[in-house]
Amino acid sequence: MSSKKSKTITRLACNCGQVRVDVQEEPILVTECLCSSCREAAERIISSLRVKSYLTSYGATGCAEYRKDRVEVISGFEQLKEFRLSSKSGTRRVIASCCNTPIFLEMKGAHWLSVYLHLWPDDTKPALNVRTMVGDIDDTSALPDDVPNLKSHTPSFYIKLLGAWIKMGFQNPKIKVNGSIEL
Ligand SMILES: [Zn+2]
Ligand SMILES: [Zn+2]
Repeated sequence: MSSKKSKTITRLACNCGQVRVDVQEEPILVTECLCSSCREAAERIISSLRVKSYLTSYGATGCAEYRKDRVEVISGFEQLKEFRLSSKSGTRRVIASCCNTPIFLEMKGAHWLSVYLHLWPDDTKPALNVRTMVGDIDDTSALPDDVPNLKSHTPSFYIKLLGAWIKMGFQNPKIKVNGSIEL
């Protein structure tokens, strides 16, 4: 038996298949975000680009948080466009402009990428760990209680992310895109 473990690679793609992204191994964390920014961004993306909703039935944005050094754009780089809620916004959401598929979110200074969960087929979707920022919505009665519903980004949320950064040697690879879009 070989002692060298081969890497598990999951290949994700935009709806039309031009943009292909490989993610390595398991995500650090799988989250659903209910913050005001994610909800506003989704509203603008869905209505302006006329795409199918990528939110859950209760309006959450599902993301698999991956170390940046474990996400690789394999093809279609030229289609990747960033969208920011405002010119001052540090967070960008990256969309495959060929077919307007939201691909990932990057927070300013973050060493991880939040890859949108809708890119996975249902049967291989990584299991959810936590729902965050539920304090941003008025009515939480529609939220399932299958995972913890955190009011904000609590310290425990960051501990796993910090652990991943230590393993990365505190590096923060730059993720390039090809221009921006205004919505
Ligand atoms: Zn596409
Ligand atoms: Zn959010």
